[in-house]
Amino acid sequence: MKYSEKILNTPSSFIRNILKVTNAPDVISFAGGLPNPISFPIEDLQKSIQHAIEENGAKLFQYSTTEGYLPLRQYIADKYNRDYGLNFNADDILITTGSQQALQLISQVLINKGEGIVMEEPGYLGAIQAFTLAEPSFYAVQLEEEGLNVEQLESTLKNNEHIRFIYLVPNFHNPTGITYSKETREAIFEVVKKYDVVLIEDDPYGELRWNGEKLPYIGAGRLENSVLLGSFSKIVTPGMRIGYIITKNKELMDHVNTAKQATDLHTNIFSQMVIYDYLKNNDLQSHIKKIVHLYKTQAETMLNAMAKYFPTNVNYTKPEGGMFIWVTLPEGVSSLDLFYQAMEEKVAFVPGDPFYTNKHNVNTFRLNYTNTSPETIEEGIKRLGKILYSLSSE
Ligand code: PMP
Repeated sequence: MKYSEKILNTPSSFIRNILKVTNAPDVISFAGGLPNPISFPIEDLQKSIQHAIEENGAKLFQYSTTEGYLPLRQYIADKYNRDYGLNFNADDILITTGSQQALQLISQVLINKGEGIVMEEPGYLGAIQAFTLAEPSFYAVQLEEEGLNVEQLESTLKNNEHIRFIYLVPNFHNPTGITYSKETREAIFEVVKKYDVVLIEDDPYGELRWNGEKLPYIGAGRLENSVLLGSFSKIVTPGMRIGYIITKNKELMDHVNTAKQATDLHTNIFSQMVIYDYLKNNDLQSHIKKIVHLYKTQAETMLNAMAKYFPTNVNYTKPEGGMFIWVTLPEGVSSLDLFYQAMEEKVAFVPGDPFYTNKHNVNTFRLNYTNTSPETIEEGIKRLGKILYSLSSE
């Protein structure tokens, strides 16, 4: 049988493929990007399921509107207006099947084959995957400690007129854990406003902060061609698949709505009504506080263990929130080779390769700490440290 070029060119998720091996019960896995299941408010959700059925009856089980459940959209608008001093209303919001779907819809709407997308290097592999289906050209711009390299961004935009959008994860970035500084955000804003491009800020982790202060978005609410993506996956539950697109650009929103109709008519209305009932009747902020406390402990355990067990020629990020640490090995050491050695010692992580649009055999890798107990984190890092020392002495 023959298949389309676009599917043949789309990488299957390396993470999803290795999860089969890394999920074996005797493996210590820092590979997945899963929220800790003890953070799911199961009892409260159970009440909300009951309550939403009592209140809405058949509506929970009927077809619904493409843009999503109005009270949920209004809740989201109010939340951003309150938390960030923005000025959104329900019409600026469309509910998606996870923010992953938002990535797919936006690239379908904006990209003709061969047109350009600016990606962070390294960047979120699920975005690389979703965008690849639209057959774009990727322009990788270096992600540094303070955020995107602004000079490189500017020269990339200047030299490539067919770039349609820039995709950024400014808070607790996946895979690096990096958060853009205030200065970098401002500098990016100054550059982007000069060009006819859309700025997409994807922010599923922003509320998971345990250090430092919350920073303003780069373009949301002040750039005309600005899109903000959000999700309940990391703060309530990922399995209900509720994410959203926010933009004040009505024309763009209308096209996204058409793409969404063509894709799945609308997001699961049962999930939308249940999550809305949960949000209305519970204190989300205090729930998030518990998650943040849990992840802070896990992150600190991992960072302390890395300081203790890793050789000093191995560098890594120190996140202020979120779910990931990014490790850089000495030049020339392949993290994929390290991955196979680590699997022999029953420890797993994600080698850096799938986070790049055009690099192989890189010396970087991602560690996740949210789904492992502090004792297990200590043991896993100790085993990795041993392998790293043996590499340094070769
Ligand atoms: N964007 C980023 C940066 C992510 O890390 C993820 C989840 N791993 C998503 C989007 C997708 O999340 P969801 O579809 O569950 O909202």
